[in-house]
Amino acid sequence: MPDKWQTRLAGFLAQRDEAGLTRRMTRLDTPPGPEAEINGRRVLIFSSNDYLGLTQHPRLKQAASRAALEWGGGAGASRLVSGHLALAEDLEEETARFKHTSACLAMATGYMTNLGLVTSLAGPGDLIVSDRLNHASLVDACRLSRAQVEVYPHGDADAAGRIIEANCGRHCLIVTDGVFSMDGDVAPLPRLADLARKHEALLIVDDAHATGVLGPTGRGSLEHFGLSAASPFIVQMGTYSKALGSLGGFVAGSQTLIEFLRNKSRPFFYSTGLPPATLAASLEALKIIASEPEHRRRLAENTAHLKEGLLEAGLEILPSDSAILPIMVGPAHKAVELSARILAGGLFCPAIRPPSVPEGASRLRLSLMATHTREHLDRALEIITRAAREMEMIP
Ligand SMILES: *Cc1c(COP(=O)(O)O)cnc(C)c1O
Repeated sequence: MPDKWQTRLAGFLAQRDEAGLTRRMTRLDTPPGPEAEINGRRVLIFSSNDYLGLTQHPRLKQAASRAALEWGGGAGASRLVSGHLALAEDLEEETARFKHTSACLAMATGYMTNLGLVTSLAGPGDLIVSDRLNHASLVDACRLSRAQVEVYPHGDADAAGRIIEANCGRHCLIVTDGVFSMDGDVAPLPRLADLARKHEALLIVDDAHATGVLGPTGRGSLEHFGLSAASPFIVQMGTYSKALGSLGGFVAGSQTLIEFLRNKSRPFFYSTGLPPATLAASLEALKIIASEPEHRRRLAENTAHLKEGLLEAGLEILPSDSAILPIMVGPAHKAVELSARILAGGLFCPAIRPPSVPEGASRLRLSLMATHTREHLDRALEIITRAAREMEMIP
């Protein structure tokens, strides 16, 4: 690399290091279950989004391997060229049924889905009203759309309403995570949906962390609130990558919306279709969620049990409504130290730091799985409280 570039890159890395913000990957030498092997040692995993443990479910693994044997490795091309496999259509139909919408479009990842969805719908001259804590993929999508983006304080539907009123008459999108990825709380969807109805806006709900988890049958945050998925004011986005144990993103909505995206979404046009094993895994995951509600029940029990223990120990946890339990620490260095102590104790959970969370709000983001046993939970609690006591975060 030319010196000029070498200096720039090395400078960036040194700055990151100074601020305690260096990113490192930890290699797992066994499958990512509730426990895995790191550096020759079995440790507990409390940082996966595989909430229901479906990545390791025998039915999902069988479906994926059967599809790979029968259909091969990859889709071979963009779906508009020759990569539109029957499996993709089956998955979209099943996803639409699952989300109670008339149509669905699957894309390569959740990140790409948000880019495609938001940039297709909004452009220069339009207004996007966006929650301050939305996922980075929504933030990037808003920027890329070149629409006017107005950010409202986290969860503040009144503030969102004032912004829309001040911009009367424009085409407006309200975009929000359903469950916020780093805080675990749920967006005020009924109030945002009312706003959308009142102003003829579209409400985009990113249900990456709610799909398969929230609501009496795991349909997501709309079901959690009893909102109808048939509302013409709501568009649901979700991922196959978290509770569904696979990979990919989707938009669920009306026929018109989906037909529009098929004709406008650049990430859909210019990426290869999802591979057969992945499509089959996602499809099987939807069937497992419908036929085996016990995973969701166990996840809720596990979350309640660990939450109670952490609160009893005096730790500061954000008021989460999901399987995400963020322990607030504050400075990035301190969160890194807590994470390192916990790993030494046998529990893997990396520190979450800026830019994933605001400055001074670094944390340990614990996430629960249905496949954690009671013994895993009690051991985790012991490891965390011991480390927090050593750091004088609790008495
Ligand atoms: C993970 C996540 C995404 C991106 O999904 P991928 O399939 O991992 O690309 C989008 N939105 C939210 C809220 C997420 O947490």
